[in-house]
Amino acid sequence: MIRPMKKTTNFDFAASLFRQKAEELLKIRQRKPATQILDTTAQNHFHELELNQIELELLYTELKHTEAALLTSEKSLQEKTDDLLLLANSSFKLLDFNSIDEIYHFLGSKLLQLSGADYMLLSEYNELNSSTTPKLWFGIDQFIGKIVSTLGKDINQIQIPVQDVAKQMDLEFRKKIYCLAGGLHELTVQKVPKAICVAIEKILGIREIYSIGFIWKGHYYGGASFGFKKGNKIKKSDLIDTISNQASLALSRKYAEKSLTENEKKYRGIFENIQDVYYETATDGTILELSPSIKLLSKGQYTREDLIGKPIYDYYEDRDARYKLIQELKKCRQIIDYEIQLINKDGSLVNCSISAELIIDPQGNPEKIVGTFHDITNRKQSEEDLKSALTKAKESDRLKSAFLANISHEIRTPMNGILGFSTLLKEPGLSGDQQKEYISFIEKSGERMLNTINDLMDISKIEAGQMNVIVSEVNMNERINNLHHFFKPKCQEKGIQFLVKNNLSPDKSILNSDRNKIDAILSNLILNAIKYTPQGSIEVGCGIVHAIHESYVQCHVKDTGIGIPLSRQQAIFDRFVHADIEDNAVYEGSGLGLSISKAYVEMLGGKIWVESTLGAGSTFYFTVPYQVHPQTRNNTEEEANPGKESVLSKKLNILIAEDDENSKLFMTISLERLTNQLFIARTGLEAVKLVSDHPGIDLVLMDIRMPELNGYEATRRIREFNSKVVIIAQTAHGLAGDQEKAIEAGCNDYISKPINRIELREMIDKYFYK
Ligand code: ADP
Repeated sequence: MIRPMKKTTNFDFAASLFRQKAEELLKIRQRKPATQILDTTAQNHFHELELNQIELELLYTELKHTEAALLTSEKSLQEKTDDLLLLANSSFKLLDFNSIDEIYHFLGSKLLQLSGADYMLLSEYNELNSSTTPKLWFGIDQFIGKIVSTLGKDINQIQIPVQDVAKQMDLEFRKKIYCLAGGLHELTVQKVPKAICVAIEKILGIREIYSIGFIWKGHYYGGASFGFKKGNKIKKSDLIDTISNQASLALSRKYAEKSLTENEKKYRGIFENIQDVYYETATDGTILELSPSIKLLSKGQYTREDLIGKPIYDYYEDRDARYKLIQELKKCRQIIDYEIQLINKDGSLVNCSISAELIIDPQGNPEKIVGTFHDITNRKQSEEDLKSALTKAKESDRLKSAFLANISHEIRTPMNGILGFSTLLKEPGLSGDQQKEYISFIEKSGERMLNTINDLMDISKIEAGQMNVIVSEVNMNERINNLHHFFKPKCQEKGIQFLVKNNLSPDKSILNSDRNKIDAILSNLILNAIKYTPQGSIEVGCGIVHAIHESYVQCHVKDTGIGIPLSRQQAIFDRFVHADIEDNAVYEGSGLGLSISKAYVEMLGGKIWVESTLGAGSTFYFTVPYQVHPQTRNNTEEEANPGKESVLSKKLNILIAEDDENSKLFMTISLERLTNQLFIARTGLEAVKLVSDHPGIDLVLMDIRMPELNGYEATRRIREFNSKVVIIAQTAHGLAGDQEKAIEAGCNDYISKPINRIELREMIDKYFYK
């Protein structure tokens, strides 16, 4: 019996063997009629042979089928092997691509080919507007025009907000390819109207749409959609699923890389440009990292490369401070605004504030310290400044209170005098001498109060920066003589000598400076000398001193008075400070004279100082630059002589334009001996009319504040018809700008109110001296 051949036997060999056996049997059968001897054994044998032949034929057929099946499975095996190779290849490629675009282009070619789709769209999630937009289209080129006109816009402008995608993500945008029952309308998440979708499907001949999302760990990166015409079916869906999954992983990595690179770039930028210094140190203090800003903090003395790897302890001024910082960090893990001092390369110290954190490794051990520090030198300085400003403010507050108390005393005392003696004057039956005595008290009190008010006005103008320097020719000899003459009676009254020791020859005595200010300085010093000298003498004088580049007129006022302790010789020139002197109440005075004098001297470009011995006397010195302008220098100004009315060229026709009765009376009396004819105007208009009606008027004393027409306007009108008349404006003492405005309006000169008789005479001398 022939055994069935094992299927593994070579088929062709077996087939030829069967064929050979079959042919042998055939030959035996054909010979049978010839022998004509048929015994039973032979017949049985023959029958068995026939059965064998049938069995062989059956086997042959079976083998043929097996051969066909083997061929089919060999082919399918080959296909599977190809698919596996494709997957292996694609997974390698997808992970190896450099950009997201490369991934999409690869997907484009592979998925279209595998799916056998007629059309394909790859879309991408766009982080900027949180929506998906078309990225690559396949197969629609020839229909673009029609699609765009049906859609009414560029197909690439279709945006599907990602939250709408997310809504569907679990159901539709699965990781396996699926058929969209709703076609294009469903694909656009109903963003494109159904009618338009149907029209587009018609244009493209689409029957079926499939889609798959590129999703990795819950993140959506985009997707692929496939369009099939009638009769076409999706192929290789398993492969599409797998490649899409590989693509999702590759896309997730690329996006992660992209954001990592962007973050790295961002943090690198911060690290490079940060003003504070970023640092990392190991727990043993070794510097692991430093930002380049260390160069700025160390004023260019260190770079980060200089310091990385070095022990941070070496740069602490106080190593204990670092130790304490570590202890603190171990306790709280974090410190903020911890102040330390670092040592720079040149040994200088930099005040720094550190904020740091202790980083712990996964095993719970301290790993390193990271933090930032910045220079707080300026902050420290500001704190110091603030402290000292606070001390000064407190001090100045204390001094101001003392000053106010003093000023209040200075105003109340003379006021009491004025009111008290005025009341006494009303008493009936007073003798002439008594009346004179009371009036003299009232005068003195008035003078004292006026001084205080003048000082206050001056200091406030100086503080407000409104005190101007008005330069004119100043004859120093004349000034000193005038003052000597003026103050001599006061000295005599007190029983002290008043000497002049002047070293300026008449031809050297004229300089260009501010006459009023020099007068004020000298007056202040002389008054103080008189005030603080109970007996002995005072001396005033000036000379020229030469410095390297400039010459100065140096004046001195010397006395044999009470003197000033060394500790206060500086302070007495400061505002408010000297008012604090304990025994000041003994001496009257606002306590502002020297600070005003100092301000004036400095305005004129000079210096003021004192040399003094307590109990023996003081000498005050001040200098002003000796500036002489040849063109202004002439010899017409003679030595002043207050008693020289008789040498005026003539008696004058004077107009006093003044609305205040007291001032008018004062001037009328003061000018009595110089006057030929006196005119009085109460308003600006009256003044203009009087000058116009009386062309012989020589001098107008023009008050600025008058009813109807002010002094400036009245002067302007007078100047329209009379340029010769001398107009002297009476300006308010405390108001800046009045004097300039007066000159501008056409006045020849100005004199400050309240008017001083001597000044008035000097002014008149200036214009009418023979
Ligand atoms: P006042 O004299 O009104 O107090 P000053 O500013 O003129 O203000 O002077 C400030 C202080 O300087 C005076 O209070 C006084 O203590 C001291 N002083 C000024 N001049 C003299 C002087 N010639 N002799 C002694 N002390 C003087």
